[in-house]
Amino acid sequence: MTAVLTVDLAAFQRNLDVVRERVAPAELMLVVKDDAYAHGLEPIVTHAARHGVRWFGAFDVATGLRVRATAGPDAGIFVWMVFGVEEARRAIDAALDLGVGDADTLEEIALAAEAAGRTARLHLKIDTGLHRNGVRPEQWPAFVERAAELAAAGVVEIIGVWSHIAEASDAEDDAARARYEAALRVVEARGRQRTLRHLAASAASFDRAGFRYDMVRVGAFCYGIRSAGGPGEDVLGVQPIATLDAPVLALGDEGVRIGIGSADGLPSVLGGRMSVGTPDGPRRMLRIDEMDCLVEPWPGAAVGQRVRIMGQGTSSPTDLAEAMGSIGEEIAVRVSPLVERRYR
Ligand SMILES: *Cc1c(COP(=O)(O)O)cnc(C)c1O
Repeated sequence: MTAVLTVDLAAFQRNLDVVRERVAPAELMLVVKDDAYAHGLEPIVTHAARHGVRWFGAFDVATGLRVRATAGPDAGIFVWMVFGVEEARRAIDAALDLGVGDADTLEEIALAAEAAGRTARLHLKIDTGLHRNGVRPEQWPAFVERAAELAAAGVVEIIGVWSHIAEASDAEDDAARARYEAALRVVEARGRQRTLRHLAASAASFDRAGFRYDMVRVGAFCYGIRSAGGPGEDVLGVQPIATLDAPVLALGDEGVRIGIGSADGLPSVLGGRMSVGTPDGPRRMLRIDEMDCLVEPWPGAAVGQRVRIMGQGTSSPTDLAEAMGSIGEEIAVRVSPLVERRYR
């Protein structure tokens, strides 16, 4: 008897509908990095593709290849971490769209495309202020020039222009958007039509119509993970799709011992700061050890009963995150891959 993470695919589908309706006519790119935020990549991609999601955001090439194998040849798959010519070659062979945010990677991709005898599909990334990756504004014109040269030679095709923003304050996001617009003008001045533009993730795409452009890259809200300190699930209209349950292992003087611990991904700092759902209602989590945890007793507690640690009827990932000054995504992705996933 161990902990189980149950993913509610009907709830996932409702979230997809809410997000898509909200951002339309912009296209949804479902972000599935970190094993679909630890919900399990293959079932999530299969379900989303079946319900009309046409674009997936996969972070790295290995994940992109898994999405390709799962979603089939027609899915748009965007990866934005590509290291070296060989990896670029694998990505191009699988027809992945490549985000490129520096001049060296552009050259590596060009070499790989020539070797593959196929055109690489590029989305050029401008750094709009996060300084993570992306071409700095002062280097942007030369970068675009070089990409256009490679496009004219048929080595690459410029599919899109994109960036990533902090979504921490409207003022910062507005400044980032102004830099993005300036970068777009450089590309458009070269006479390019129909460049796929994408800038926003969950929060900005939901709140701010001007940030949606042609496509939005959304992970968190599709999994029902709201922003810490932001609007609630009731306002957003989404709900967490995963519930985490664990069995009662033993009854003791100190409390009821439950079969989930920090090794399973439950941060020990949440001991004393969260409650769980028992058959007799909510009880305080007293302490989280490595292999198990200790919960305040309830009448009728018995070995084998299941206790709800997270999800529907108890704390959401973001509730738990807020209790430790973190974000919901972090709580979600910490659930160990060794915890069994079930789908319903
Ligand atoms: C993770 C990520 C997203 C999705 O962010 P959410 O807030 O989970 O919607 C979008 N774009 C990039 C580049 C990302 O890394």
